Amino acid sequence: MDIAKLYELQKLDTNMLKVRRRVAQIRQQQGESDELKAARAAAAATQAEQEHLRAAELDAELLSEQLVERIHDAEQRLMSGTVRNPKELESLQASIEALKRQRAGAEEAAMTAFQRGEEVTARLAREQAALAEVERTWQAGQEELTQEENKLKRIYAQLKQQRQPVVDRLGAPAVELYEQLGTRKAGVAVASVKNGTCGACNVSLPTGVVSSARIEEGDPVYCPSCGRILYDA
Ligand SMILES: [Zn+2]
Repeated sequence: MDIAKLYELQKLDTNMLKVRRRVAQIRQQQGESDELKAARAAAAATQAEQEHLRAAELDAELLSEQLVERIHDAEQRLMSGTVRNPKELESLQASIEALKRQRAGAEEAAMTAFQRGEEVTARLAREQAALAEVERTWQAGQEELTQEENKLKRIYAQLKQQRQPVVDRLGAPAVELYEQLGTRKAGVAVASVKNGTCGACNVSLPTGVVSSARIEEGDPVYCPSCGRILYDA
């Protein structure tokens, strides 16, 4: 059995697994970030508040204008001399005073809504600028992720291309052994020997096992601890 080739296949598969994991990670990071969603929600809420204040200001202004007309009409009646009854005159005057107070109230409400509207407009401008900044950063990040994903796809295609001739060279029985072992051993069938230890489970290997693992071709040597095929590169 070509142990060196088996190890080559293992390295290719390990790299392909890494690439697939990173692509999955990238796909999770794609889409709107929490920061972007929060910035957008803040600006939208402030805009709604601004619209509400503008409506309140306009309503108060309209009410004030209507009251001006009613005050004018009532004053006309008072001046016209058609009302002579002292009680009626008194009541008319009282009603004019009440209308004037209402109008002052409406004016004040319009002013308050205007002032708060100015504050909210200034806050909205700040929030929209912050949102634009967050969007720019996010956009750049997304482009970087897309570029990385495209690069990883090319790498993956290359690895896949490299894998096929290795599989062909190894032959069916060796590949079958490799696949079966890999399924049982978390995708790692072949472990390298590093300083006398198994590269997969890190257990110290007996000297005899280490020297046997130095072969490039022959019967596979297994790690006595994790059961993987050993290869001393
Ligand atoms: Zn081991």
